[in-house]
Amino acid sequence: MKKTSPALRTGEATVQTTEALEPTAVDIERGRRLFAAECRFVHAAQRLDHLPAPSGPEIAFAGRSNVGKSSLLNALTGRHALARVSHTPGRTRQLNFFDLGNRLTLVDMPGYGYARASKDIKEDWQGMMFDFLRGRPTLRRVMLLLDARIEVKPADIAVMKLLDRAAVTFQIVLTKIDSVKPRDLARKRADAEALARAHPAAHPVVLASSSDTGAGIAELRAELAAVCDA
Ligand code: GDP
Repeated sequence: MKKTSPALRTGEATVQTTEALEPTAVDIERGRRLFAAECRFVHAAQRLDHLPAPSGPEIAFAGRSNVGKSSLLNALTGRHALARVSHTPGRTRQLNFFDLGNRLTLVDMPGYGYARASKDIKEDWQGMMFDFLRGRPTLRRVMLLLDARIEVKPADIAVMKLLDRAAVTFQIVLTKIDSVKPRDLARKRADAEALARAHPAAHPVVLASSSDTGAGIAELRAELAAVCDA
């Protein structure tokens, strides 16, 4: 089985098996080292003119409220400070920037689609978030989190379309995979891969993780390190 080809990484390859995409031990180690560094909250922005000046590479995290974003950021960095900052009342509607070892900036985006039946993403996503996504030269990728336990919601699709329009590469990460049976997870993964194929800005590879068990965390770190170093 071939390892991931450069063609796939740029989204040009059409057929690859999941098995071919397993990160190598070297990839995993690179991810481990990156995330062993100190991660600290550096900046919060409620308006575009409050953004930090673009410098090094940035990777943003987005998803519906309750998708498990804070838990995932904590699991990745092995710290609790990130969730505390992002869940602080008044800070949930803003972009939170975290520096990881002076090498990578993690951007925690506000959760969207809070109401269960919410079809639309609110003004902040249509306005400021879209402008951020479209205009941020240092933004390498958006990790778009989908809860593996529930169906994809209209708000998720709305954000995927917004990312397409902003022309920012996004990659789907299924969360809470400890709570689904292997067979259901396989179906979820196939559905997410189909969604990725349908969206021009989507990365073809779908990742999966559990903050509770740690499943997929090392692989996610490896992917983020590869994006950071690219
Ligand atoms: P956020 O609103 O997207 O930041 O979500 P949180 O990280 O606060 O998590 C929302 C809920 O999902 C909480 O009750 C978490 O305990 C739960 N949760 C988060 N990650 C996982 C996971 O990996 N597995 C399970 N079973 N539950 C999780």
